[in-house]
Amino acid sequence: MSDLLARARTPELSGGQMLLIPVGSTEQHGPHLPLGMDTVIAQAVAHRAADVMRDGGVDVLIAPALAYGASGEHQHFAGTMSIGLEALQHLLVELVRSAGSWAGRCVFVNGHGGNVPAVAAAVRQLRFEGHDVGWAACAPTPERDGAPIDSHAGRIETSLALILAPDDVRPDRAEAGALEPLSALLSRMRIGGVASVSPNGVLGDPSGASAQEGLRLLWSMAGDVVSSVLAWAPDGQGRLCDERRKVVA
Ligand SMILES: [Zn+2]
Repeated sequence: MSDLLARARTPELSGGQMLLIPVGSTEQHGPHLPLGMDTVIAQAVAHRAADVMRDGGVDVLIAPALAYGASGEHQHFAGTMSIGLEALQHLLVELVRSAGSWAGRCVFVNGHGGNVPAVAAAVRQLRFEGHDVGWAACAPTPERDGAPIDSHAGRIETSLALILAPDDVRPDRAEAGALEPLSALLSRMRIGGVASVSPNGVLGDPSGASAQEGLRLLWSMAGDVVSSVLAWAPDGQGRLCDERRKVVA
C-alpha cells in the first residue's frame, strides 16, 4: 500500500503506524522562489525520511501536508497567507488528538521557522495530555553541510528549490537580501517584519545555489529526521534531536 495517508484505505490502517505530519507555510520567498516552498520542503523531507524508515522496517505513514502556518513576519508581501501562532497551535493539537485514536507516534516535520513556537507549544500540550508526539525541523546544519547561513530564500532554499520545484524557480530574478545574521535582524523584524530589513524579502544570498547542493541538503535533513525520530528523545520543547548530532552542531 502507499505510504500516503490520503491514498490509504481504512482496513489497511492496522493501528499503531507512525504518522509523519509535514507542516509548511504559504509565504513570500523573494522574487525568485514560489510561495509554497516551505510546504514542498517539509513534504520532501518527510517522504525521504519515511522511505528510509520503511526500508528499516518501521511502519510509517505520511499525512497530507499543512500548507498554512504562522507567517506574520512576511505579511507585507503579496501572496502570504498566515493563520497565526494561536490557530496553528490549536490545529496541530486537534490533528493529533484525532489521529491519536488510531495512529502510533506522531511527528510534526516542520519546514518553517516561524511555526516553531506553535509547534513546540502544541507538542508540549499534547505530551501533557499523554500523546506520544514530537517534532523535527527541516534544518540543514551549515557547519556540516558547507552552506552559508541564510534563513529565507537564500542559497539553501534556492538550492532545495532547484531540486524540488525547478519549474517554479526564476533564477534571473534571484538577488541578495539582508546579509546580516538573523540574530542581528530579529529586533527590527519583530516590529516591522521582514520588509523592514529586506525590501525584496530575502534573508541571505541565493548566489551559488545549485541542484547538486539542494540534493545533498535534502538528504542531510531527511537523515537528521530519521536519526532524531529513531532516537526518540524529545527535549523540553518536544523537539526530537539526535544526541550525536547535537555534539556536532
Ligand atoms: Zn522558506
